[in-house]
Amino acid sequence: MSTVTLIGLGVMGLPMGINLVKAGHDVVGFNRSPAKVDALVAAGGRGAVSVADAVSGAHVIITMLPDSPDVEAVASGPDGLIAHAASGAFWIDASTIRPDVAVRLAASATSAGLRAMDAPVSGGEAGAIEGTLSIMVGGAAADVEAVRPVLDSVGSTIVHVGPSGSGQTVKAANQLIVAGTIQLVAEALVFLEAHEVDTEAAIRVLAGGLAGNRILDRKAAGMAARTFVPGFRVDLHHKDLGIVTAAAREAGVAIPLGSMVAQLMGALRAEGHGSLDHSALLLLVEQLSGRN
Ligand code: NAD
Repeated sequence: MSTVTLIGLGVMGLPMGINLVKAGHDVVGFNRSPAKVDALVAAGGRGAVSVADAVSGAHVIITMLPDSPDVEAVASGPDGLIAHAASGAFWIDASTIRPDVAVRLAASATSAGLRAMDAPVSGGEAGAIEGTLSIMVGGAAADVEAVRPVLDSVGSTIVHVGPSGSGQTVKAANQLIVAGTIQLVAEALVFLEAHEVDTEAAIRVLAGGLAGNRILDRKAAGMAARTFVPGFRVDLHHKDLGIVTAAAREAGVAIPLGSMVAQLMGALRAEGHGSLDHSALLLLVEQLSGRN
């Protein structure tokens, strides 16, 4: 089993680290706020005090950080992982960031002798805890195969989607579909409530037909109960919809519904709801319907 370093022990990173420990890996964790490191140590991992400390001796380094500037900060510069990781080590960036930044950082890591991949994930906090994440990997095929046993410890669907950056492009498409689906489920729920239909029964029957989807399965009950504890924060989905709209524009592709949902996610955030779960899009539907 490998020594695996995990940098970024938040909602996703900590349960991923715990699953790596359970799979028998020697797991070293680093996080900006040290309490998260203590939680990994309590689960059987080891703690590190800096990025340099965390990556020394690692065969595989996983970063699970919020946004492109965070990954840049951890990867680059004299204190960064590219400067301190051993030549030949694998670097898997599992964060969701801009595809162009992923390509640029992977190129500088490769020049320094690292084997870099972008491997953003889908499946949410529940998928991270259960070890059933879907992982879309961009990079060299041989590198993806070499780290597959590590990825198997945190995910159940691991697909190599193309060269460096393509994992992030696929993840952008994922975020487009998830945001659009949440918006439609939110509209359906407010619509059903306005007609005084038994919402729980409606969700059950809808989930069995062509309208069935994971948002109905995993989030509709919480939305109906107005429970918006994250999960996936509005702030992060706002970031991701910025990535999607920029990448679609760059490719000359029209995403009219996606652009609309991006505006709504931005509005929800501007109203001060950035730390709620993204299913809080329902609040805006209620507001627009005069039902809040
Ligand atoms: P989070 O904010 O809960 O965790 C990020 C962690 O990184 C925090 O603990 C923070 O302290 C740490 N951190 C930030 N900057 C750091 C630095 N410079 N050095 C060390 N630690 C640092 O975020 P999350 O929900 O775990 O998401 C992480 C990534 O995964 C994001 O890109 C997100 O878009 C993506 N993602 C999240 C989910 C989800 O459901 N939460 C699902 C799929 C993908």
